[in-house]
Order: sequence, then structure tokens, then C-alpha cells
Amino acid sequence: MKFIPDAEGFNRCFAGMGFFGCPCCGSSDGEGGNHFCAECRESLEYIREEIRCPGCGGVLDGVLGLCSKCLAADARPYLGAGAVFEYRGKVRELVLSLKFNGRVELARAFAHEAAPLLKKVDFPVEIATAVPSHFLRRFFRGYNQAELFGRMLCKETQIPYRNLLGRTRMVAHQSSLPLVKRRQNARDSFVCLAPERVKGKSILLVDDVLTTGATLTDAAAALLRGGAASVWCFVIART
Ligand SMILES: [Zn+2]
Ligand SMILES: [Zn+2]
Repeated sequence: MKFIPDAEGFNRCFAGMGFFGCPCCGSSDGEGGNHFCAECRESLEYIREEIRCPGCGGVLDGVLGLCSKCLAADARPYLGAGAVFEYRGKVRELVLSLKFNGRVELARAFAHEAAPLLKKVDFPVEIATAVPSHFLRRFFRGYNQAELFGRMLCKETQIPYRNLLGRTRMVAHQSSLPLVKRRQNARDSFVCLAPERVKGKSILLVDDVLTTGATLTDAAAALLRGGAASVWCFVIART
């Protein structure tokens, strides 16, 4: 079964969005336009280290080139990953709200925080796409949070965005599965929808959270099977 997502749901999500203020505390003394206010920014769990693990964008906790978690993982087909936040505390709460409670305005706020980092890491990408959610999940939720974040991020960084991936089958909620099952569960669940756009290109693959890296690994593999020259990943937060 193939599902080709479009920008319609995305536009619908933002069309009726009349809310302008900090999406975390509701105060309107920020920069406006749904960005986090200075006070809330203080309480968000940014990854502040200058030198980061290229496998997950997280803190390098040893002398080797990868963090201990990435060293223990299978080889990854993407060339680098960036992450803005640690997935805990307030950030975790807000990501879950974006994902499950229809708080779509958070995508713009996160993208605004993420854009400077994406510009700084300067991955040599030509086009961006997001990890797709299965169409049933997207149907009931009405949007894919990774796509919302990806589109807003691309708007701020001037990278062209396209939906390049589809899901091939329903997978159980990753978060409800034990770690060993997650990898198996995600395998072969992505397909490249537009090989003609992907061929020979360097692609930015966006998702909301990097947990084990398994989902990004499988989605990146699908892009490479579709003819992509290289894949770079970027997420809101990593666990
Ligand atoms: Zn606030
Ligand atoms: Zn790592």
C-alpha cells in the first residue's frame, strides 16, 4: 500500500492558527509569531556542547569519534546527525504535545530554535524530507509532526522541502516496544516515492526524536536505495 502525502494537511493545520505568543507559557512578550519566550527558552534542555556526536547529535561522552550509544549501535547509512535538545523534562513534554495533543504551533517554535543550529552544522544538503508517519496514524492525527517541523525548518533555512518517503506497512508504536524489537519493527517500512528528485542528491532527513537511530537508519537506507548520494539527519531532540 502506498500513501503519497501532500502539503494540504500542513496548510490546513496552520490556516486557522490565530494564536500568537509563547507556545509554552502563553505569554505574548516574546518575539511573537509562536516563538518561545526568553524565560521558557531558559528552561529548555538545549544540547550546548560545541563538539557533538555525528551519529546522534548528542554529547560526546568519550575520547572516541562517536558517543557510547552510537558506538554500540549498528553502522548507520547517514553521514551525520544534528539534534537541538535532550529529550527530557519540558522538551519531552512539548514534543509529546506536538505529537499527540494537536499542538501544531509547537512545530514552528521548535523550528525557530533549530534553524541556527542547522545553519551552523552546515550539512551540504540540497533538499529536505521528513520521516513519514503511517497514513492511518496521520489520518487520525491529521498531520505528521516530523513533516510540520521539517517544513517550518526549511522555511527558515531556505532549503527546499518535499515529501520523498512513504510507509510500506503499519508498524506498532515504537515507544511501546522493547528496544530489540524496534529495529525489526521499522525495517523495510519506508519506500522512496520520488527517485527522480532523489537521484544523486544530498538529502536532509528530518524527524522529531532520535531514540535508537533505527528509524532514521531505515528511512535513510530507503533514500539511498532510491539513488540519493548522501543523507544527513536532523531532529528536534535525542534521547
Ligand atoms: Zn514562555
Ligand atoms: Zn551518538
